[in-house]
Amino acid sequence: MSLKSLLKFRATVAFRLAAGYTAVIAVSLVIIFVLFYSFLKADLATRTNSYFVDKAREFSALVATRGPQAMRGEFGREAESVGTRQIFFRLIDGNGRIVAASSDAAFQGVGVDMKAVKEVERGRPVAFTVSVKGRPYHVRDFYARLAPDLVLQVGKYMGADEDLLEDLRQSFWVALICVLAVSGFIGWFMSKRALAGVEEVTRTARAISSGDLERRVPVTGRGDEIDRLATTFNDMLGRIQTMVSEMRQITDNIAHDLKSPITRIRGLSEMALTSRTGPRDFEATASSTVEECDRLLGMINAMLDISEAEAGVADMKLERLDLGKILLEACELFQPMAEERGLSLAVEAAPGCSIRGDRHKIQRTVANLVDNAVKYTRPGGKVAVSLEVSGSRAFVRVQDSGIGISPGDLQRIFDRFYRADRSRTEEGNGLGLSLARANARAHGGDVSAQSDPGRGSTFTLTLPLAPATNKGG
Ligand code: ADP
Repeated sequence: MSLKSLLKFRATVAFRLAAGYTAVIAVSLVIIFVLFYSFLKADLATRTNSYFVDKAREFSALVATRGPQAMRGEFGREAESVGTRQIFFRLIDGNGRIVAASSDAAFQGVGVDMKAVKEVERGRPVAFTVSVKGRPYHVRDFYARLAPDLVLQVGKYMGADEDLLEDLRQSFWVALICVLAVSGFIGWFMSKRALAGVEEVTRTARAISSGDLERRVPVTGRGDEIDRLATTFNDMLGRIQTMVSEMRQITDNIAHDLKSPITRIRGLSEMALTSRTGPRDFEATASSTVEECDRLLGMINAMLDISEAEAGVADMKLERLDLGKILLEACELFQPMAEERGLSLAVEAAPGCSIRGDRHKIQRTVANLVDNAVKYTRPGGKVAVSLEVSGSRAFVRVQDSGIGISPGDLQRIFDRFYRADRSRTEEGNGLGLSLARANARAHGGDVSAQSDPGRGSTFTLTLPLAPATNKGG
């Protein structure tokens, strides 16, 4: 493994999780071992001390009954039974002289400690550990008073206990290394498995960034955190894909809708240049060009207004408005156009319904709906505009007996630039309803549509009433 890939491996979450998990296990094992080891060590020391105390009691009784001289034989027998290379016994008088002793050849350098003798004569036994030159084990040196002016000294090699503790320490280190290696590997493997879903999300994100918007992260169905991440990620992808395809569609539509007026302007200008025409024809060409430019500007402004309203940054001049009055004015404005087309336009709205909104935007929204109803209704048909208040909302209904909208078109008429094929004979750019809906939503309302193809449509504009003025304005 190169240094670079090692550093990369160290930076992975799987490695960090496994390392953390292993460290916790290591610390726990060390704590458990230290506790166990201390208890065992204390227990071994207690056992040795009890042995010394028992012997001191036994020898004290013997000294009292048989006298100090008899102790040489007793010490010899006791030392033999344990092993003369393991233990020795001495009887010492108040001046530190040895009165009786077992063989102490294996205990070179373990002499009589006068300080201990003096201390023991005051009552309590004393024990301490000494090391013997050239020997691997320590000696536990014990002093206890047997009779006035007589002290027992016992020296015992702690080899068995020290070996046991040493074996335990060594076994622990070996076990610790094995446990850490196994738990490190298992921890890494488990983290890797748990994070496999995240890897999949990363791979999918990489594929998407290189243009494959169709890709989705597989969901295992376990319902765990990774599944939730995958589902959220897939939902986000779905929305991005829809947005991208909508944007593509809009761009196509813009290009298409800009192309026709520009082609017309170009055609008119070309004709004016090539044909030998007089100033009157130039005038006509110029006025047609102005008309086409106005159409283009109208379209561009509508697009900007929709974007502003949808982004919620539209510069709205909010004021209290009488919605009934706005409807009456709008219908008055469209009356001549309706008459011209042989339609009846009726309005059923009384002044006094107050809303808070931007006058210009509300007027434009209502005008778009009435304009469409008039545009898409054949001669002899009817358009009815009505206003109803329910709860805290006002409902404006624009109903017509026109050509209607097919269910397929109905789903798309609020999309920018969308125009149903049947309505292409009428003038328009497919932005009116998008703007109407964006304006209504910017005011906290909405526009919806229902239609019966061939029989007519109803558009409903919902707007919240101005606070505390539900009854009149
Ligand atoms: P435009 O009217 O400029 O084409 P709109 O956004 O106002 O654009 O409307 C989008 C489309 O919805 C129209 O092209 C038409 O197909 C359909 N539409 C809107 N209003 C009506 C209506 N009242 N009756 C039938 N079709 C309608």
